[in-house]
Amino acid sequence: VKEMEAGESPYVVAGSNESRWDDKLGYFIEKKLHVWCRSGDGLWESGQIQSTSGEKASVLLSDNSVVTVPIQELLPANPHILEGVDDLVQLSYLNEPSVLHNIRCRYLQDIIYTKAGPVLVAVNPFKDVEIYEHDYVTAYRQKLLDSPHAYAIADEAYDKMMAGANSHFSVTIFVNFADETNQSIIISGESGAGKTETAKIVMQYLAVIGGGSGVIESEVLQTSYILEAFGNAKTARNDNSSRFGKLIEIHFSASGQICDAKIQTFLLEKSRVVQLALGERSYHIFYQLCSGASSALRGRLRLKKASDYKYLNQSDCLEIHTIDDAQKFHTLMGALDTVRICKEDQEHVFEMLAAVLWLGNISFLVTDNQNHIEVVADEAVTNAASLIGCSEPELVLALSTRKIQAGKDEVTRRLTLQQAIDARDALAKFIYVSLFDWLIEEINSSLTTGKHNTGRSISILDFYGYEPLKKNSFQQFCVNYANERLQQHFNRHLFKLEQEEYELDGIDWTKVGFVDNVDCLNLFEKKPIGLISLLDEISNFPKATNLTLVAKLKQHLNANHCFKGERGGSFIIHHNAGEVLYDTEDFLKKNRESLHSESIQLLSLCTSRFPQYFTSTMLKQSQHPESKFMQSSMFACQKQTVATKFKVQLFELMQHLESTNPHFIRCIKPNSKQIPAVFQNDLALEQLRCNGVLEVVRISRLGYPIRMTHQEFATRYRFILPESMACQDHLSMSIAILQQFDIFPEMYQVGYTKLYFRAGQIVALEDVRKQFL
Ligand code: ADP
Ligand code: MG
Repeated sequence: VKEMEAGESPYVVAGSNESRWDDKLGYFIEKKLHVWCRSGDGLWESGQIQSTSGEKASVLLSDNSVVTVPIQELLPANPHILEGVDDLVQLSYLNEPSVLHNIRCRYLQDIIYTKAGPVLVAVNPFKDVEIYEHDYVTAYRQKLLDSPHAYAIADEAYDKMMAGANSHFSVTIFVNFADETNQSIIISGESGAGKTETAKIVMQYLAVIGGGSGVIESEVLQTSYILEAFGNAKTARNDNSSRFGKLIEIHFSASGQICDAKIQTFLLEKSRVVQLALGERSYHIFYQLCSGASSALRGRLRLKKASDYKYLNQSDCLEIHTIDDAQKFHTLMGALDTVRICKEDQEHVFEMLAAVLWLGNISFLVTDNQNHIEVVADEAVTNAASLIGCSEPELVLALSTRKIQAGKDEVTRRLTLQQAIDARDALAKFIYVSLFDWLIEEINSSLTTGKHNTGRSISILDFYGYEPLKKNSFQQFCVNYANERLQQHFNRHLFKLEQEEYELDGIDWTKVGFVDNVDCLNLFEKKPIGLISLLDEISNFPKATNLTLVAKLKQHLNANHCFKGERGGSFIIHHNAGEVLYDTEDFLKKNRESLHSESIQLLSLCTSRFPQYFTSTMLKQSQHPESKFMQSSMFACQKQTVATKFKVQLFELMQHLESTNPHFIRCIKPNSKQIPAVFQNDLALEQLRCNGVLEVVRISRLGYPIRMTHQEFATRYRFILPESMACQDHLSMSIAILQQFDIFPEMYQVGYTKLYFRAGQIVALEDVRKQFL
């Protein structure tokens, strides 16, 4: 105990005191303790202070070089015994380089999970780390393992769900018991960080511990194959990138068995069907179909090789070297069987896919000097028409003309080349997206047993992360907007709730300001002058261009500090996670998302099952645009554009999440090459900053991350007290222990029910306890 006296031990110096560097410097020099300093390239390196002179210190780095840096730029490193701790808040010094170092050390030993207080950080291993076998499920279920793991999060959610339901049933049935019983696991991270894999790992765990008859849980797991075939694609960032967001809601029976499930999807990237960036692919299913279909099926679909289709061959990328598309196709057909999509419907699905591919091959010939076109009559038209179920002339007419109201008369206009291409692509996209929606509906009806209203559910959210690309378009606009909402949800839970807890327990606590993104959300949502409402307003003018849009935005939004209009039709938004430049070129078109009435009519007259169904669904939706949110006057709007539709969907999602107890998993992509064992500090740090992990750590540093009830504390450390004191009440004993340990008063707070400690304090106590016992 003597050695642990204040000021002597590195552990007792908590992170909260980091600004008082000068006081500690001598100690760091004397004990040759490690510090962090920035090297020439701006990255943090660890070293030992050799000497100081004035405001500067000479630091010996690990490669034996010595650098001279300003003392104020040094940060304390943690003692070696804290290297690679399970939970970042256990670190004595919670600065950025220490946090990063800890995660990195673990990662390089294949320990991919780390806690940051209540948040789980998962670093993508890009290899099989062998921690998901059945033994692990059993170990986590029986609480034999307590190292951080996605299984542990799933297990905690499951236990809370079961406990919540039971306690509510016994206490009162008047409360809305869904509030504390239903759980959500919110997984975020940038593309390729491992969100979808993590969601599958969580589902895998829940399927085992909530397994019953075996039918429904295997169906739930099999849906991944379908969703990935139709919704994933190779991108520059991830060979298997999900191009949609999803929420999977799993319902459990009173005895804790999976009884029902529901999938909801968001923002499927439509443009990918018709347009690809170099080196990227369209949706996996197209390549799977082209290489996996039997020769009989190929014949019926008039199918060629992937390389024969313009929608697929435009990006110089047809294969993924690690993936066998043909084999995936067979897995997919198995999965379609599992969710009981009959063979006949499967055939229809493939017909629609082939129709999309053939549509892409339809070409146009410019016939006059006004750029009007004619459809080239070739096999593409023949095959597309036959697969859709219409006649060739009908298809040709829909793709090359448009009826326009001129006064009382209706005149038929010929389309120009760009208009014809747009009409063709719009049709292809419509068919694909409708097909995707139909599949989700079918999956849901297969997963629905009618027993979903049990009041026990775990929802897993796998949503696109914040995406700052070089060129950001409408899709990123929606994705980044959603991430602002999700970030606000995260902030509210982790910071506001934490502060409320301090207040409830009566402890002295100056509120810690956290980065609030209300201004950015207002920028998007405010009526009548937010980004979305202005975008909708301008979208109503058929003649408006993107320059009109940006001018309007500048005029109304320049007062919001999160917005900056730029020249040439772009603007900048200061997102919570950083600045993003948006190019508005396609904003209006994508927001209106109109399918020509010619195409709608064409599909509604088709003889085959899907086109008719797709158009009737679309018409039904446009007749009843009011979802339950739209009915409230707050969200009422006249015309449903894509942005508004998405906003409504997002509000419903947020409302759902608010009614659950959340668990957060933050996925980190350690390198941009998708390879194992490489950890790029700058890349990881940027993500930790964007996704709020550093903010959690910062709050922890300022707050009291370690909590124990009076009883827990007194029982654990009473050994230090003289016999005579060991029979007092828990609170008195706790205070005596704190005095006996000589813990600085600013390092802890005594609440009504609990003791609160600054980061690192328990390490010291535990050390003494170990020596003592
Ligand atoms: P995201 O959904 O965030 O874009 P994915 O979940 O698709 O990212 O992960 C990208 C790739 O990283 C996966 O295809 C897989 O190869 C690898 N990966 C992700 N998580 C893990 C994990 N826990 N173990 C092994 N490999 C993983
Ligand atoms: Mg994904």
